[in-house]
Amino acid sequence: MYNRDREMHKATCADCKKECEVPFKPTEGRPVYCKDCFQKHRPAQRDRY
Ligand SMILES: [Zn+2]
Repeated sequence: MYNRDREMHKATCADCKKECEVPFKPTEGRPVYCKDCFQKHRPAQRDRY
């Protein structure tokens, strides 16, 4: 269920400092991660699909 027309926002990954685009507006004071680092940083979840 991904909307390809979703607005992307340029951001700098807080981990690898790479420039990336996120489908949400980066919030000041909150780290933004690229896709790769987001996988690493997201909390471990017991429920997987
Ligand atoms: Zn990164």
